[in-house]
This record gives sequence, structure tokens and C-alpha cells, in this order.
Amino acid sequence: MNTLTPTGTNGDCLICHEKAWRLVVRSEDLEYRCRPGTWDLVACAACGHVYIHPLPAAADVPALYPATYYTVNCNSPIYLDGAVVEKKMVQDARRLRDAVRGVNVRSIVDIGGGNLTRLMKLQEVFGAGTEAICLDFQFDAAALAAAKTAGLRLVQGNVETDLSALRDNGHDLIIMRQLIEHLRDPRAALREVFRKLAPGGLLIIDTPNRGGLDYALFKSRYWGGYHIPRHFHLFSQPHLVRLLEETGYQIFRRGYTPSIAFWIISFRNWLGLNSNERSRSFWEFLYLKNLPVSGSFFVLDLLWSKLGFQTSNQFVFAQKRG
Ligand SMILES: [Zn+2]
Repeated sequence: MNTLTPTGTNGDCLICHEKAWRLVVRSEDLEYRCRPGTWDLVACAACGHVYIHPLPAAADVPALYPATYYTVNCNSPIYLDGAVVEKKMVQDARRLRDAVRGVNVRSIVDIGGGNLTRLMKLQEVFGAGTEAICLDFQFDAAALAAAKTAGLRLVQGNVETDLSALRDNGHDLIIMRQLIEHLRDPRAALREVFRKLAPGGLLIIDTPNRGGLDYALFKSRYWGGYHIPRHFHLFSQPHLVRLLEETGYQIFRRGYTPSIAFWIISFRNWLGLNSNERSRSFWEFLYLKNLPVSGSFFVLDLLWSKLGFQTSNQFVFAQKRG
């Protein structure tokens, strides 16, 4: 059966360093068509870790993120803003505060934060005296103005190459949401972040998980979590935990959360709809800000997880021992 599955021996597994791999999925960029051609996600022949192969060169990475990318494009069907989102961010911030009780949080860093609203809500919830830093490649004028008003610090940096703007042993909560899967070398980045964490501090990671019902339905090609060619590493939770432990962390808390966006992107990919903008298709009710649709997928994932199954989003809080 598997004789037609391409395999190779020129890989490099982030988790176990095995060279052999087998093809998992080959696809063009279904969401943004950033450039023609296909990319391969492969699974390590020894441990099963899934990664893009070959790894795009660092210089080629910016071209994989078009100007229409959902984080900066309010016309994208995956873009989120508005009162409901803000309310959810306050709720998330309170949950995080409750989950990390016992950790003295004086400084929060959101790496690749992009959306400053989340950081503002965190600062409100943790208290006005808490230092709140957003670290990103660059900031536009609107972000600079918003940060000044809200008392946030914006610092330019790159988690893979330059964290010099952060203090060694200087930050109590470092947040990497939907980021680690985009990195070329997550192991090196985790080591650097470890250096920047205060003793007792926590790194908060969330990242796609190949384990939800949407993954089971769409894994042959259309699953939103693949996000080809921008997700370089797709971690199972045991692999993520292993990587964190090998880079010095202790696991503080971990689990799975509903993943509405991957449901919507998976269906959109399957139906031939892109993530740049909404078209005139009948199926265009499938967008993230459509509350009945998002709410339905949320409830579905919640019920699914209550039955004991995984969802397509996972989190791990990892601590630098005090
Ligand atoms: Zn491996």
C-alpha cells in the first residue's frame, strides 16, 4: 500500500535528528497563493515529527507572508476584531492570571504579538504596574501611537536571531502564541527565551496539534493547521514537551483548546476559497467573525474534548525553575 509514498534520507528531524522521512502531504499555498509551486510536509521515520522539507531559506521566508496575510488584512475571512474579540481577550487574560497564580508577574513579553489588544488586556488584568512588552519585527505608526497611549513597550527583535532588547533573567511571562510552528529552529529559539525568563517565570506556548476531529477529516490535504508553506513544524504534545524539557524547562501545565479557525480554514481550503478575501461563493458564510458558524465549531470542539478526544490546538506552560 505504501510503496508509492515518497521517502528520503536527507531530512533533519528537530526532535530526534533522524534523517529519514516519508511524505505526509504535498500542496500549493491554498490560502494565499504567495507563489506558484508546491511544498512538502514530511514525517520523521523514527519519531513521527512533521516538518516542512526542504526548509525554506531564511531570506525566502518574508515572501511567504503576503500583504493580504490575515493578521494585517481586515478583509481576510480569518481576520478578527471587534467587541466580541475584546471580551474574549479579557476572559483569556483572566484565565491566564488564574492559571499562573503563585508566579510573581512583574513583566510580560508577547513575542510576535502583532495584535496589541491582547497585551493591553493582559496588562489590565495583571495590574497597571506590570511591565508589558510586545516584541516584533516592526511596528506601524498606528501601533506606536496605541502603545504610547496604553503604556506598552514596543521593542523590535526576532526570536530566532535577536532577543537583545530583552533582559537576561528579566521577564516573568513570555508568550508565544501560534508562533513556534513558524520558526526555522524552534530549539534554538527556546534556549534563547529560557535565558530571558526570570527564575520561576513561565513560557506560554500554543500551537497547532495534529489531533482534532477537523484534522482527522481533512488531513489528506486541506487541514487548516498545515498552513502550507508557513508552518515549518507541526508538534505532537509529547514532542513539544520533550523539546521544552531538553532546553531546560519544566512542564507547568498543558492541554488542548477548541480550534475554530482551523475548522473554518479547512472547509474553505476544501471548497476552493482562499484566505485573502471573501468571494461571491454561496459558502462564504464560512468566516471567523460569523458568530453562529464560529460558535458551532467551538461547541463541537468543546463536546469532542469532553468525550476525551484531542482538538487541533494545544497549549503548554513551561517553567524556568526558580
Ligand atoms: Zn524524529
